[in-house]
Amino acid sequence: MNKPTTVCALCNNPPEIPCPTCQDTQPLYCSSDCLTRDHPIHKLVCASFATLPAKPSGGEGGGAKHVLGVLFPSSSPDPELVWVRIGGFTDEESGISFQEAEVGDFLQVDSNHKGVPAPESLHSERNRLRNRDTRSMLEIWHVKSDKLAENLCVKTLAATTTATSEEEEEEEKEGKPFYNWRGSILIIFMTRSTGFMIDPGLYRDCQLQDFRDAVDFVVDYGNDVHDRRVQEALDTLGTTTTTTNTGTGSQPEVLQEKEKEKEETAAGQVEQQQQEEELLSKDNIIIAEMSG
Ligand SMILES: [Zn+2]
Ligand SMILES: [Zn+2]
Repeated sequence: MNKPTTVCALCNNPPEIPCPTCQDTQPLYCSSDCLTRDHPIHKLVCASFATLPAKPSGGEGGGAKHVLGVLFPSSSPDPELVWVRIGGFTDEESGISFQEAEVGDFLQVDSNHKGVPAPESLHSERNRLRNRDTRSMLEIWHVKSDKLAENLCVKTLAATTTATSEEEEEEEKEGKPFYNWRGSILIIFMTRSTGFMIDPGLYRDCQLQDFRDAVDFVVDYGNDVHDRRVQEALDTLGTTTTTTNTGTGSQPEVLQEKEKEKEETAAGQVEQQQQEEELLSKDNIIIAEMSG
């Protein structure tokens, strides 16, 4: 389950071909069709991936290093690859070493922004838009404040990714992000969680597929279609199955025992209950039909 996914950046088929322009030789797309469709987004960082920005020397701070992250600038339309300094500290009680990303400088919070709160982070291991686990764990840093300007970069990306044809793209169709991001956003990448409560996490450089996952995250964040879909699925499961899909067989046994108990002690009552439930659900259907 924690296997890093290596799939076509767009459609989850096995990747066969790399981008012909950037130096990354890892296959990124299943077909030239997906390569073409991803081009409007990939071209924004293709050249940067080919010639990475100069890496700052990490020497000064005793073991500090830098990892490649993606910055979605507040006031520029294009995302950028940036080097983020990773410091570290050791928890004295547990002796576990943690890495700490130094993100403040990227998020444009300075003395001009009095009363702006500290940066906060979200984490994601799922690309809901493409229905797949992400290759890395995404750590999304942003500042939540109405005092900051709307993020122009995400707005531009949303307009680009929702355009379904070249013509729409040329018309600069106004696709809108679902969430009103403000200020700049910085996304860095970690090895996926191992499931332990205390997980030191390891930052690593952004790769091509990470970039697509990052763009999908900022554009799709706040889209409640996914939540509704999950709720619908749960509703369906809740009404039709109670004992399936356990795999181990232990749970059905317990349930069977309970059922048996019911049958023995109050068979009539159970039957009555079932009839009532049936009536109730019929009522619900009628109500739903009337209001719909
Ligand atoms: Zn594909
Ligand atoms: Zn490329």
